[in-house]
Amino acid sequence: MRDPSAPRWRRRLPVPAALAAATAVVLLVNPASAVVPAAERPVELVRVADEEANVVEVLLAGTAQLDALVATGVDLDHHVTRTENGVVAHAVVTASEAAALTRAGFTLGEVLHRPADARARIAEREATIAGHAAQNREFAAATRGPVASAASDVKIIRADYYTSGTSQILSVEAKWAQGQTAADALTVERDSGPGTEIGSGGTQTISRFVDAGVYLYHRGAAPVTSRPDRVRITSPTGDVAVAQVREWLPTPGDDPEGPGYQKDFVTSYLTPTELYARIHQLAAEFPRLAEIVELPHRTNGYRRHAQAVLGAAADSRVAVDSLAWGHEGGNDISVELADPGTADTPLSVTVAGPAVRVTLGTDGAGAVTSTAAQVVAALNARAGTLVRAYTYRGSAGAGMVAPAARTPLSDGLSAPASVSRDPHPVYAIRIGKHRDGSKLGVLAYAQEHAREWVPPLVTVETAERLLRNYAHDGRTRQLLDNLDIWIAPSINPDGGHYSFYDFNSQRKNMTNHCPTTGAADFLARNSWGVDNNRNYTEYSLFDGYSGASASCTSGTYAGPSELSEPENRNLDWLASRPNIRFSMNLHSSGNYFMWSPGAYALPGRVSAPRPTLAEESAFWGASSRILAAIKRHRNMAVTPARTGPISDVLYSAAGNSGDMLWYRYGIYAWNFEVGTSFQPEWDEAHAETLEFANGLVELMRVARDFAQDRTRPRSTLAVAQSATPGMVDVTFSTSEPAAVFYTLDRAAPTYASTLYGSAGIREGGETLTVPAGSRIHWFSVDSAGNVENNYRPDGNGRNYRKGTAVLPAG
Ligand SMILES: [Zn+2]
Repeated sequence: MRDPSAPRWRRRLPVPAALAAATAVVLLVNPASAVVPAAERPVELVRVADEEANVVEVLLAGTAQLDALVATGVDLDHHVTRTENGVVAHAVVTASEAAALTRAGFTLGEVLHRPADARARIAEREATIAGHAAQNREFAAATRGPVASAASDVKIIRADYYTSGTSQILSVEAKWAQGQTAADALTVERDSGPGTEIGSGGTQTISRFVDAGVYLYHRGAAPVTSRPDRVRITSPTGDVAVAQVREWLPTPGDDPEGPGYQKDFVTSYLTPTELYARIHQLAAEFPRLAEIVELPHRTNGYRRHAQAVLGAAADSRVAVDSLAWGHEGGNDISVELADPGTADTPLSVTVAGPAVRVTLGTDGAGAVTSTAAQVVAALNARAGTLVRAYTYRGSAGAGMVAPAARTPLSDGLSAPASVSRDPHPVYAIRIGKHRDGSKLGVLAYAQEHAREWVPPLVTVETAERLLRNYAHDGRTRQLLDNLDIWIAPSINPDGGHYSFYDFNSQRKNMTNHCPTTGAADFLARNSWGVDNNRNYTEYSLFDGYSGASASCTSGTYAGPSELSEPENRNLDWLASRPNIRFSMNLHSSGNYFMWSPGAYALPGRVSAPRPTLAEESAFWGASSRILAAIKRHRNMAVTPARTGPISDVLYSAAGNSGDMLWYRYGIYAWNFEVGTSFQPEWDEAHAETLEFANGLVELMRVARDFAQDRTRPRSTLAVAQSATPGMVDVTFSTSEPAAVFYTLDRAAPTYASTLYGSAGIREGGETLTVPAGSRIHWFSVDSAGNVENNYRPDGNGRNYRKGTAVLPAG
């Protein structure tokens, strides 16, 4: 079904060196000899002249040690933070200074910034500017010519008027040839309606949108008191552009919800357990229209090992984990570090049931002499069937252990027993009269990110609307009779449960990929997990793309490898159902509506391939329908500035699911960022649920129309005067989103012929400059595969479109 000429792009880039360096974590640990308190040892810092300096964390036990650090004369920046473990300062030190500090007993943490990082930033900036200069030259060349925009260095891309709530807004986007290097804002003059003077409606300014050092365009929105008809921008060099104002998301005349249409089925936030119960209940109530599908992979489970960290200073800490899961006995285990109170006692460990008691070693005076490393070794030797012990975050464990009272290990999980601790099944509800793969498939999925509580509600509200209106609403029946709809309300149930019961800001899944030499201990438990929306296969961190992290505690941790997580393999399985052509990935928040590309590589902001002009217009066309449906609920307009490719309007997100669905599976894949926050007040959450369910139902209508599209596109060739003597400027337009393939050598056009392209980001079709009198042969084809004039583009058909590139008479 997919346009056979469109390649399934797949590129692998090496990880840029700068990226690898920025994500590396270097831990410098104390040598075993550095047990004398730092303040007692004078230290002399000598900076070797040609050594480079890094910004490095210094981990301090408290203010006294901070004072000792200051006394060394080390180059501290202004950063000093107090943590539960002491004080962290940032020092600018060379390798030999770092070694001197370490010898003096200071613990150095992560290297935060290296000279190479700064060099990479600078190289990136220079590459970017050079690249953009070339783009600007092309742009300047493209906008030259005797037509309306004659030689103008400014071009208005969009001018959108819309209402939102009770406001009227004008949003303008424009591209200025000097935008990369000059920081000027642009002034937009408005008229006050058809036939009025430009300027009579007032002015507004729009400012540069720069991402990763690259100027994209100018944009801005301002309230207006009436609907302007035209706007004008005069660039700082005196060039002028004028554009017609369009209405963004006008209210469609046709209300898709007929009389008796039922909706508003969700009355509270729902945990993943409750979401799954809800779709099971719906499938049981409508067995002829729906079924539950358990996806092939169970999660790793809402469960953890029971843990404790004993001790205060990093090098004297002992971390202990149960071998059993917390709920399977780990939570019953306790560890005590007992001071025997007698001289010359050897270090020993006794185990009585789940109670582990360490008797610390003492010297002849009765003082404790056991180090953390010694206690760790003793625990692993004598209690190794119950627990695993390790020193703290890669420390050598040279510090003397402090006695500790009996400390219970804990998995730190507080959900009620009704939340399963086992690897969790992940469910989707499959809705449609014919669920045999013969109908066009649509996929909606939510809660890749655990803390986003509204998006799952949008999916169950939508499922219930489809099922409860089928019997009496003809338009709903049209959808279920012609589509195969898959709705997965919670992709990440473990993280979801954790967000509800333990840590509401949880974003990722619950899987701990941190090593025991890193952040595997109990204190880091709220930072573990893989970002399920960074673990997919296309344009990922592992391919060298930006916007995901290799650190196991980062909010955007991409995981150890692509599709390492069961949640992600489940979505990959769903996307590989061969009939699925449309999808919606529901997130929150921000009221965005986005599609691919969702990632770029640095330096240079090298984007994943952009959709073709025809695909881009199909995205925009469906978007305006979906967003108008959302707006119908309470006049909330998703703005033009928040509509478009993820990497154009938000940021780069390497390895996100939308990109996998689009690039790997050819699915028209959209992303909602629902609402205003992750867990808004219920009244707001309820309204967001209803308005975005409108949008999701409209996606089903878009898909149904696509499935039933038998209309052949029509195309038009327009010829305008060129600035170059003997040449003319040619553009194509189509009656619906459609690809145009053309030849200039009198050959019959095929899918291998040149594809008519886009003029640039968020712009329309390109302008082709060809010799006057050229013969042009072409045809158009829509994304459902309908070809203009029923032409067969195999090189044998003759009923393609033909034209001559001559200026129209007059
Ligand atoms: Zn999200």
